[in-house]
Amino acid sequence: MNKLLERLIEKNKYLVQYGQVADYIPKLKSANPEDIGICLLDMDGNMYCSGVYNKKFTIQSISKVITLMLALVDNGEEKVFSKVGLESTDEPFNSLYKLDLSLENKPANPMINSGAIIVTSMIKGNHEEKFNKILEAIRKITNNNTIDYNREVYESEKETGDRNRAIAYLLKNKGLLEGDVEEVLDVYFKQCSIELDLIDLAKIGLFLANGCRTLDGGYQGCNIEIATILIAVMTTCGMYDFSGEFAARVGIPSKSGVSGGILSVVPNKYGIGVYGPALDKHGNSIAGFGILKDLSEKLGLNIFKICKRN
Ligand code: GLN
Repeated sequence: MNKLLERLIEKNKYLVQYGQVADYIPKLKSANPEDIGICLLDMDGNMYCSGVYNKKFTIQSISKVITLMLALVDNGEEKVFSKVGLESTDEPFNSLYKLDLSLENKPANPMINSGAIIVTSMIKGNHEEKFNKILEAIRKITNNNTIDYNREVYESEKETGDRNRAIAYLLKNKGLLEGDVEEVLDVYFKQCSIELDLIDLAKIGLFLANGCRTLDGGYQGCNIEIATILIAVMTTCGMYDFSGEFAARVGIPSKSGVSGGILSVVPNKYGIGVYGPALDKHGNSIAGFGILKDLSEKLGLNIFKICKRN
């Protein structure tokens, strides 16, 4: 397996020249576009990693999966999906114009910023408690208490987050967001700034693949029904406005973030973390896509694949 992962990194590393690192804050801009890494964990507890896998990066939009889990546990499906849809979208992740159309009564899904900000607001507790619940969940899932948020990234997110601020105020105006807008945004900026490495990310993948349960059974974050919803939402909405093509070509439920991380889940089998900060025009790791596509083919991981019959 390690040899295979190494080969896939070698094969796909040329792709980084066609991508660009996110440049809206200095810390992301300083990432090395040549970095590529992958970690894969299986249900027997085996771990296979290759490339740049122990560098820390911020989780960014990948946090939206964890906040959706917490909001669903706190409120139930009906309440959450009365405020945010379950439909994919061809809009970029930070689009806001649809929110101002009178026909649209809620954001398309919880993986675009507008939907994710509502989801964060629905986690029970004041803003400190909300963030602590998110951080605690990630620490328990990864069994890694050293995970924290990066202060520098958080400050920059906050300083440059006017688009998210505009989205949140519009949501408040439409009656979709309860509580203090700035406090909800503060949690959102902090959750995006949580820092981890690929081993941690693969553990989150394995936790989801195992029905929101850590392998040792020490932490059960949600029930199997919610786990299934999370994986379905990742499949249909996890790669922004590239989710359809990603599903067709890779067929592994995944969620990306602008720092170049991709969280991937092969239900009942594997948790996978991929890192490559050079991004395509949708904001997804460009080499990460190539590696996952090849890995899916090599190991037969496409969840939509039809088995050949005689
Ligand atoms: N902090 C980023 C934002 O909200 C995260 C987005 C992302 O990873 N796509 O704009």
